[in-house]
Amino acid sequence: MAESTKQKTVVVGAGPVGALAALYAAGRGDNVEIYELRGDLRDPSTTPLNFTKSINLALSERGINSMKRANCPGLLEAVLDETIPMHGRMIHGQKSGEVYEESQSYDIHGRFIRAVDRAGLNKRLLDELEKMPNVKFFFNHKLTGADFKRNRAWFERRDSPRTDHAQNPTQGAESGRADEIEVSFDFMIGADGAHSAVRYHLMKFARMSYSQEYIDTLWCEFHIGPNEAGDFKMSPNHLHIWPGGDFMFIAIPSLDKTFTSTLFLPEPKFMELDTNGSAVITFFKENFPGVIPNLISEQDVTRQYSENPHLPLISIKCKPYHFKASVVIVGDAAHAMVPFYGQGMNAGLEDVRTLYEFLDAHNTSSVDPAERKAAREKALDEYTQQRAPDAAAINDLALRNYQEMRSDVRSPVYRFRKYVEERLNVYLPSIGWATQYSRVSFGSERYSEVEKAVQKQGKVLLGFLGMTMVTGLSWGGWWLWRWNRASHSGRFLSKWFYIMGNKVEQFGRRYT
Ligand code: FAD
Repeated sequence: MAESTKQKTVVVGAGPVGALAALYAAGRGDNVEIYELRGDLRDPSTTPLNFTKSINLALSERGINSMKRANCPGLLEAVLDETIPMHGRMIHGQKSGEVYEESQSYDIHGRFIRAVDRAGLNKRLLDELEKMPNVKFFFNHKLTGADFKRNRAWFERRDSPRTDHAQNPTQGAESGRADEIEVSFDFMIGADGAHSAVRYHLMKFARMSYSQEYIDTLWCEFHIGPNEAGDFKMSPNHLHIWPGGDFMFIAIPSLDKTFTSTLFLPEPKFMELDTNGSAVITFFKENFPGVIPNLISEQDVTRQYSENPHLPLISIKCKPYHFKASVVIVGDAAHAMVPFYGQGMNAGLEDVRTLYEFLDAHNTSSVDPAERKAAREKALDEYTQQRAPDAAAINDLALRNYQEMRSDVRSPVYRFRKYVEERLNVYLPSIGWATQYSRVSFGSERYSEVEKAVQKQGKVLLGFLGMTMVTGLSWGGWWLWRWNRASHSGRFLSKWFYIMGNKVEQFGRRYT
């Protein structure tokens, strides 16, 4: 494409979703500029992202597939090389004073999710971008304003030891005040996280419906070091869970043989523990068997509890995600969710793949700017129509999955349903039965379709269970009646009814 016909795409936010979006845009020949509030996270002097974000994450099919489609040779292999397979959950508990572990595989076909270091994944994506001649980085640039009718945005430049890759901070950007620059664009992709400034400005242009919810639970991260031999202290191929009913403690493996653990606890309980240091130790000992002292010492639990931040969890839904042909929001900016399905980043990466499927399906690479604009507007419209219900579905599923992780995993009903559904999947593949977890984590079916399919499966299972019970009871009753008539000439049942009648009468007298 001739230089003059290239479109300028500005990506706001160089987190995992923004970086992938920039790769997709650059791969299509756009001139891409990435503006990021923080410094380059590959620079050791930059405040690590995990100051406010979890250190490691669960990467699954949707995220992997979206990176595969970025057409960057070697990218996916490099990312996957630095992951640890997690084949299932390891449930930790205590029965009759004995600490136990119970492995629950994620998938009957052996498919697994992967633990990945958030910063490592993000750095890989930035490294790929760095290789592309049509990409420019602007680190330490904060979006402060945007006019989506005139396609202009304003960024505040912040001091940093390494201003940006371009050395000259205004290179590629248009002039502005010393501390603020004005930037023009054809297309802006807002990937600036849950507290998105792009979304804030988009609201002034699009008639956006918006809702957000802070759940009652806070999270606090802990670190479990390697054992004395320098190895993992527990199985590295599981996501470890200590379910607590209303709260839980989880641990995800890291390549350096450590685990990153997270305590999810209702805020009032945090406040209760905050007032007394030793209460934290008692709480851990009572609720998370085997953690103290095997995995973390008493001192470390107390220290990490008080030093590490206790952070909130937000769930955001909004619609539309775009304004005309100018701007679209993706990732947490469009649909931050609670982390209990391990899907936040995966869904964000899938946004990028889906968005570009729509853009590619229309003539957005036309050399005629007007035609390109009209095509992009159509594509963005269709993207919002499809993606908003999908994002709403995974937001809801993520909220519901908290109940499953912190409590249901121990329930026989949950295990029975999982068992039945997995057997149906294996022995009757033609009926397309699958567990909710495998639909979400090992496939690319639309989230809203997953929600519908799982509800339908639940109804069929309940109906089947109801029918089995009615048939069983009818058959049992008929058998009892025949047996009573044949062997006791009807006396057994009359006696039984007589006794039951008396009991009901006694019960009635006592409580009326
Ligand atoms: P972010 O990662 O938030 O990146 C946004 C970027 O935009 C940042 O770099 C920020 O500095 C920049 N920015 C912000 N404002 C501006 C501005 N005004 N101007 C310029 N730049 C700006 N997801 C999973 O898939 N699997 C998991 O296992 C998982 N576990 C999680 C555990 C916890 C405890 C939490 C809290 C989340 C978890 N998530 C998980 C969710 C995941 O972290 C997010 O969905 C993901 O980070 C979103 O990526 P993003 O690029 O959209 O946003």
